Amino acid sequence: MSRAIGIDLGTTYSAMAVVGDDGAPRIIDNAEGEATTPSVVLFQDIDGKDSPMVGSMAKHMAASQPMDVVQFVKRHMGDPNWRFDSANYTYTPEEVSALILKRLKQDAGQALGGSIDDAVITVPAYFDDARRTSTKQAGQIAGFNVLRVLNEPTAAAISYGLDHDRDGVILVYDLGGGTFDVTALRVNGNDYEVLATDGNRNLGGFDFDNALMQIVADDVAAQGGEGLLADPVAAADLREKAEMAKRALSNVPQTSVYVTFQGNNYRVRVTRQAFEDATQSLINQTRDTVLDVMDDAGLEWGDVDHLLLVGGSSRMPMVREMMQELSGKRPETDVNPDEAVALGAAVQATLESQGDGAPTMTIGGGSPITIQDVTSQGLGTISVDKDTRQDINVVLIPRNTQIPCMKSEVFYTMHDNQQHIRVDVTQGDSNNPDFVAIIGATELQLPPHPKGSPVEIIYRYDIDQIVQVEVIDLTTHQSLGEFEIDRESNLDQGEVHEASAHVAGLTIE
Ligand code: AMP
Repeated sequence: MSRAIGIDLGTTYSAMAVVGDDGAPRIIDNAEGEATTPSVVLFQDIDGKDSPMVGSMAKHMAASQPMDVVQFVKRHMGDPNWRFDSANYTYTPEEVSALILKRLKQDAGQALGGSIDDAVITVPAYFDDARRTSTKQAGQIAGFNVLRVLNEPTAAAISYGLDHDRDGVILVYDLGGGTFDVTALRVNGNDYEVLATDGNRNLGGFDFDNALMQIVADDVAAQGGEGLLADPVAAADLREKAEMAKRALSNVPQTSVYVTFQGNNYRVRVTRQAFEDATQSLINQTRDTVLDVMDDAGLEWGDVDHLLLVGGSSRMPMVREMMQELSGKRPETDVNPDEAVALGAAVQATLESQGDGAPTMTIGGGSPITIQDVTSQGLGTISVDKDTRQDINVVLIPRNTQIPCMKSEVFYTMHDNQQHIRVDVTQGDSNNPDFVAIIGATELQLPPHPKGSPVEIIYRYDIDQIVQVEVIDLTTHQSLGEFEIDRESNLDQGEVHEASAHVAGLTIE
């Protein structure tokens, strides 16, 4: 059996898998015997020390102790301003995620025997460089050797492809607990080529829960109980009930939610129809993204051979109906939306752990798996338009470019003996600097040259979607400098080290 595991670090639930001696990946149950672990952390203070609890118990406690619980931390990955204060320590998103990963690591060790150190961790395809780096760091803080950060839809397609041995174009629609993405891939034997991908990191089951909470709160208000959502304890309790009701509505046309608020008991009947009406705009957003990805990939529905629905929220009948209506095709039904990503990640973990990232072993018959991925975000730099003299964003690497890749562009100095050149690395597809984010900047020294001297800026994107920048003085043909984006939003090595020490010192229940 492989010692390397695949981890689907989800917004609401996480799962892990390993490839067995038979070459087939299987889910590793957690210590409570569950196939998925809620990505929820409860911070308990025991004798002045944090004793974090991760998983189902923590999720249940969320209702009674909402202030001590962190949920949906995946939405904050790469956000330098998000922090959670426990009684004893201030946690970054990477550290909270590391606690979830540490729990999985412990449970995997218990299930498989010994210490499990190597892992592939999945991320939404459209996660940018900063969020990927955060995820990798979370793995390191948890004590993992992170072999690779793999895109979730690619992982899902791998597990699907293994089982079905089917070639052609696969469209993966992934609606999870907190994130959404769509990816088109071409599968040819064991070669996976990503054609296009797009998504929304703030759209998922959570938003459908919110809609259902609103329906219930409005009904309770109509029955005389005003202000339910403004009360943190009542709202946390309702969130859990709303999620259960939402799941029920995937199977039955109506259900009831029972709420106790301000000493009164309320019963609210919710129909699937009312729920679907309230969430129509959310489904429409996912529909638009599907159409954008089809467009970017240059695909017509006739070109799509398989429709894969993954992520727990794709169990909602309206997702299946919308996709069927849009595509005229029946989505594949024999995929477990909660497990497909972890299973695919386990396959990749096994291949990666065999040496240098170059797969040498064959899984599922045939040749080794190769993955050709694309960039999920455009990358560019700010320049001055020579005619209008206004700042413009020049996109060097457009979104959906195959990676690894290298692109360069030549720019010209604006003054005689210009001493510095400033490189602003931007993320986004627009030419308008107002609509892109600056994710890194550096200023490099330039030797004296006349105005209009050429300087080449080179961007390199590696398979983990980490970006490197190099600037060449084309007058002297000397490199002026090379840098990895100094991601202000990420932890530096010292911080990762400190965080690792803190997390290593905690006992997780
Ligand atoms: P994931 O992050 O892929 O595990 O997806 C978790 C999300 O799927 C959560 O928002 C769940 O509420 C949602 N979910 C799971 N099962 C169902 C179901 N049967 N119907 C609707 N939503 C579900």
